Amino acid sequence: MSSTSWESDEEIKYFREYLRIPSVHPDPDYEPCLEFLRRQALQLELPLAVHYPFDAKNPVAVITWQGLQPQLPALLLNSHMDVVPVFAENWTHPPFGADIDAQGRIFARGTQDMKCVGMQYLAAIRALKRNGTRLKRTIHISFVADEEMGGRRGMRPFVETEEFRVLNVGFGLDEGLASPTAEFPVFYAERSVWRMTFKISGTAGHGSLLLPNTAGEKLHYLLDKMMKLRRQQVARLENNPELTIGDVTTINLTRLGGGVQSNVVPPQLTAGFDVRLALDVVHEEFLAQLHSWMEEAGGGIELEFDQKHPYVPPTATDDSNPFWLAFKSATDELGLDVRPQIFTGGTDSRYLRKSGIGALGFSPMNHTPVLLHDHDEWIGADTYLKGVQIYEKIISNLANVD
Ligand SMILES: [Zn+2]
Repeated sequence: MSSTSWESDEEIKYFREYLRIPSVHPDPDYEPCLEFLRRQALQLELPLAVHYPFDAKNPVAVITWQGLQPQLPALLLNSHMDVVPVFAENWTHPPFGADIDAQGRIFARGTQDMKCVGMQYLAAIRALKRNGTRLKRTIHISFVADEEMGGRRGMRPFVETEEFRVLNVGFGLDEGLASPTAEFPVFYAERSVWRMTFKISGTAGHGSLLLPNTAGEKLHYLLDKMMKLRRQQVARLENNPELTIGDVTTINLTRLGGGVQSNVVPPQLTAGFDVRLALDVVHEEFLAQLHSWMEEAGGGIELEFDQKHPYVPPTATDDSNPFWLAFKSATDELGLDVRPQIFTGGTDSRYLRKSGIGALGFSPMNHTPVLLHDHDEWIGADTYLKGVQIYEKIISNLANVD
């Protein structure tokens, strides 16, 4: 396709219109998104409902296409409307301009994360409806707020509401990642995020002495244990080419605090870590390990959590899950090289999985660099349109599961 034919494509037009809405953090205004989605729903001749599970500034819009057997659990096609901030000076195209260059690359914040996916769902449904297709299961296409801030004002409270319960969701799709190779990653689980701070107390005093039990010595002990664990995980990853970063526990020292003056031994030092627990870690055992290190270090240490996500079971990717089989048969038929893996970060999928609903993270963008949260975020127009066809097949298969 040439750049003029991309520009005149109906689906590319809708996508670019959505990209031009600056639903950007901090404090995004979702009203223009709702206004746009209402027009989409009208065009599709489908009902749209808006829910407010947290407050009036954080809507969840749900467009519904009823199936032939509406008593069956429904399919949820989820995307988030919010996007992360931009540093416009680092962009070669305006971040909310949705420019198309001569190679067909569309530049805007949200092209990958994840306005593409939300619009591809609608485009796929538009195509299915035009073909006169009817599917067994009801499909809900949800557009949520606040994912980029952890979903505390979006999906997390939404799954707890009566409005969500009546959607009778049986399975969900949500975001994945672009892939620079021919492969398409599909994500069936996420690690548990533990963000924590050790508050280490010790003997304070003059910097000229050798006082016992100082905070510095205890910090040294803890840091040594944490870094040893980190090295073990690095080795695990290096020694097994089958593993990806999502398969191992990551440990990173992210903050250090304390002290006033270099000749005064301080009464307290703090050390903050970002830890992502692999799926094979037993949470109680890991916590007990941390506590025994705190004692071995000399005691007087408190552990505080900013985030302590529970274990969430993965979505089955075997014969026990008919939705997985339906997904896999769609991608096999299309000849896609799909690779199941564990997501490195966190998405709204975890709230679905935590509620006992299986979910897959999938963003069909191969041969595309991973540019989420980066400047000059883009997707190829052809990749976008191919993704629409991929979703047509996947959605049909998933919504026709008996
Ligand atoms: Zn995202």
